[in-house]
Amino acid sequence: MLKKIRLLIIASILGLLALSLIQGYLINNTYKQKKDVFISETRKAISRLDDFSPSLDKMNDVWQDHFLNIIADYYVKKISKSTVLEKLNSITDSINDTYIKNYNKELLNKNIGYNLKFQKQVKTIILLDSIRNDTIFNSKLKSSFRLLGEEFSIKEGHKVSNSLWMTDHNFQRLVNGKEKSITFNLQFETEDRMNIEGWEKIVLRKMTSLLILSVFIFLLVFGLLYYSIKNLITQKKIADIKTDFVNNITHELKTPLATLTLATKMLKTKEIISKQGIFENTVNTIERQNIRLQKLIDQVLNNSLGYQEIQLQKELVNSKKYLNLIVADFQLSLDSKSIKFHKSININQEIFIDKFYFTTALLNILENAVKYGKEHLEINIFSKTDENFIILISDNGIGIPKKEQPFLFDKFYRVGNKEVHNVKGLGLGLYYTNQIIKAHNGIISVESEVGKGTSFTIEIPLN
Ligand code: ATP
Ligand code: MG
Repeated sequence: MLKKIRLLIIASILGLLALSLIQGYLINNTYKQKKDVFISETRKAISRLDDFSPSLDKMNDVWQDHFLNIIADYYVKKISKSTVLEKLNSITDSINDTYIKNYNKELLNKNIGYNLKFQKQVKTIILLDSIRNDTIFNSKLKSSFRLLGEEFSIKEGHKVSNSLWMTDHNFQRLVNGKEKSITFNLQFETEDRMNIEGWEKIVLRKMTSLLILSVFIFLLVFGLLYYSIKNLITQKKIADIKTDFVNNITHELKTPLATLTLATKMLKTKEIISKQGIFENTVNTIERQNIRLQKLIDQVLNNSLGYQEIQLQKELVNSKKYLNLIVADFQLSLDSKSIKFHKSININQEIFIDKFYFTTALLNILENAVKYGKEHLEINIFSKTDENFIILISDNGIGIPKKEQPFLFDKFYRVGNKEVHNVKGLGLGLYYTNQIIKAHNGIISVESEVGKGTSFTIEIPLN
């Protein structure tokens, strides 16, 4: 059964893990999808914004016109490629502030609802004539070239669109003292990029309800699983306790019943009537076994009482006299002489207790000390008055493992090692003791170390 529960726990943990992985995968997929939709919606909203805005379009015309003159100078070899790029840069730099301002104005009209930066990157500039293609700039070979817009790295942004500006350019130039008409084609490719501030947060915000729902479902499944397994373990514990109890009580009942059967059989024989001594002996045995059975049933019935059901009849008792008497009586009831008692009961304190119940509680602890003791058993009994009245009963017996200690005072609980199972018991003694001490508004605690011994401390209020 325990193996089954362990398997169930492992299977549930694995199932939960698999479920979380699948959920994580699905959430990640949704995140990617939402991100794609969000980026493409934004892209759509701002795409070709400069083409449709007269002010931006005009500014584009300005740098393009300038650039055609620069490129003409390059064509007649007046300037180098790097100078072309430097000059282009200085033209666009000079108009960039106004360009950004105009762009932001256009963005405002679009009402997109979040902050966005824009830039135009140069991809390629190629000069074409009948002889060759001359690449002036290629973003794949060189570092990036921001033509217009705001500063942000390629990694930080998303592509909006590509645009290609192609033009034929005719111009007149003095070459070797002669006016010459020159034509070339220009291919200027740019890429518009955008940077949406905090786009991750915006996408996550769009997923809030989904995230909350999945966390809630996860917690619910986890909680249900935890609750079911915990319940199962408790059920198993209760079932074990019940089985143990039934085994113990049958065991306890067997001996007196067997003796009773034997005794009644003997009484049926005719000879026994003539033998007065044997007859009396047998009747006494029947009586004794009967009392034993009665006691056993009383023990089960009484010892199952909860502290609210115990009706105390308290009286003032002198602690020294009372405790010494109990110990003396208890010593008398023991056959074994090898048990040493160390008493330190010298406090003449008036305590307010129900003598009958309190004695039962103390005897349960003393009986346990003997039952679970060693061959040379020593029992220490010590009392003192603090704010409360304290009685300490310790033994040098087999001790109780730490993990079992919290359950000692539970109904029917018996420590699950073999040494203990050789000793008869119902697991009710300490439960009942605890109930009695509770009924006296006191507390009982245990300290124990395996192999060294156990000590119980009872603390009851003075009045
Ligand atoms: P009974 O109902 O007849 O008293 P029991 O002695 O088994 O049966 P409790 O007195 O409630 O039941 O004790 C519960 C368990 O605690 C015992 O079975 C034993 O394992 C452990 N225990 C109690 N006292 C001691 C002790 N002094 N030393 C070692 N183990 C102890
Ligand atoms: Mg006991």
